[in-house]
Amino acid sequence: MASSSSKRHFLPGPNTLAIHHGENFASETGAVMPPIFQSSTFAHGNEKGFDYTRSGNPNFKILESVLSSLEDCKHATVFGSGVSAITAVVSSLKKGDLVLCEANLYGCTVRLFEEVFRKFEIKTSWTDFTDPSISKVIANLKPSLIWLESPTNPLLKVIDIKKICDIAKTNEIPVLVDNTFSTALIQKPLDLGATLSLTSTTKYINGHSDALGGVVCTNDQNWFDRMTFAQKALGLQPSPFDCWLITRGVKTLPLRLERQVQNASALADHLANHSSIKSVRYPFRFDHPQQKIALNQMKGGGAIVTARLKGDQKHTYSFCKRLRYFTMAESLGGVESLVSHPATMTHASVPAEIRSNLGIDDSLVRLSIGCEDLDDLKEDLTQALNHYHE
Ligand SMILES: *Cc1c(COP(=O)(O)O)cnc(C)c1O
Repeated sequence: MASSSSKRHFLPGPNTLAIHHGENFASETGAVMPPIFQSSTFAHGNEKGFDYTRSGNPNFKILESVLSSLEDCKHATVFGSGVSAITAVVSSLKKGDLVLCEANLYGCTVRLFEEVFRKFEIKTSWTDFTDPSISKVIANLKPSLIWLESPTNPLLKVIDIKKICDIAKTNEIPVLVDNTFSTALIQKPLDLGATLSLTSTTKYINGHSDALGGVVCTNDQNWFDRMTFAQKALGLQPSPFDCWLITRGVKTLPLRLERQVQNASALADHLANHSSIKSVRYPFRFDHPQQKIALNQMKGGGAIVTARLKGDQKHTYSFCKRLRYFTMAESLGGVESLVSHPATMTHASVPAEIRSNLGIDDSLVRLSIGCEDLDDLKEDLTQALNHYHE
């Protein structure tokens, strides 16, 4: 046993942080796993200060404590989904504010800005944050908020988060990073200078494709107050049961992610060596345009691999359908591997020409690599590629 004095020399590692939460709200029973506090309301004047679940619940607090310790930050606020977390942030802006967004944001984020918040006169400007002129763009536009995502979906563009945050800081502009694709285990946006780190906990954090959730992490008291206000005032709170599931799911995040990243890195090379593949995109591969930045700011290359096949939309679609262990489905980050075909799925409503300008052509596939055995996934990809031109 370590003595208590030697304990203080070490910060707990990510496995320990993900497994242990400080408070169970069940000290009188000794329950190792927290119960689900399936209660909408609480007796007035209780010791822990709970009143009504829309403005707080023990299961929210437990999950918030785990997520803030993984992110190594002061505050975390949980929401009913990633989109609710985005809504919480944007709804705290005011009429006329400008948000400078990375041009490749997650589709539902774009839809929220353009089809909902635009009506309330929150303005957006879209730009490529890897462009060398970015510091001029930021200084000229002086936005109220900068909205980044790195790596982006589905093309895995990597943005130099620290560089952008440094520029933003000199202009006193807060930066939000949507960290869903990496989680705090791979990159910590707040340490790189961001004000807000937002994650859809539906994906890697929960990891079992059975609950939706979102979180906003920050060290800034004012932004934290805005988030707790949005949680209750806009009704963006999660359910106690979903928080309980996510608290259970996150316990194995470091284990799962390690396996997924190993699989993804090996499969990216495996795919690149197949004659039916035109190109592969993976942040840590030598041929990724921002590999250097990725190596610098990420602890691993992540578990999403994007590839272009040699063929048309029909061929690519049939490749997806032929896979056995990769289910063709939206979402990502679960223990099970998934494949998506943006041209016929997430981006089907975008006209072909605009899609191809975005780099999302008909032969593009996005693979979310799961925890299955590597050889089985390799074999599966190979059999589907070998039938590709039939
Ligand atoms: C899925 C996702 C979201 C939205 O999260 P939901 O939990 O589905 O609402 C936001 N950003 C990114 C990058 C995502 O992948």
